Amino acid sequence: MKGCIFCKIAVRKTPKKFIYEDDEIMAFPDINPIAPVHILIVPKKHVPDFMDLEEDKIFSKLRKVAQKIVKKHGLEGKGFRITINAGGAQIVDHLHLHLIGPLGKAAKM
Ligand code: 5GP
Ligand code: ZN
Repeated sequence: MKGCIFCKIAVRKTPKKFIYEDDEIMAFPDINPIAPVHILIVPKKHVPDFMDLEEDKIFSKLRKVAQKIVKKHGLEGKGFRITINAGGAQIVDHLHLHLIGPLGKAAKM
């Protein structure tokens, strides 16, 4: 979608090193991280808000990629959070998961 920063990243108009990429999903570090690992996991298709998501396929793919990245970044058992800001809480109106960690007591173990 014109003017959408994540759509620009998806077509590489804004070059970005991807942590993960396939035909439907991309993942890259948040520009303004709030923890040692702060990764955005994003469908390439422009879905403006969680409430606009009508198919399970995208959500299922986001889950699989999130689990893969948790393992790859050693966050399994280390405390992490997966967040979707929605309904106007989000800054970028293109659906994305935040994967944030390590967090909590498990982070210190
Ligand atoms: P939300 O929409 O869920 O509030 O968060 C959007 C997130 O995208 C923010 O944490 C912000 O730092 C991040 N962000 C915004 N623009 C860019 C960008 O151009 N590149 C990257 N890597 N992250 C971005
Ligand atoms: Zn978009």
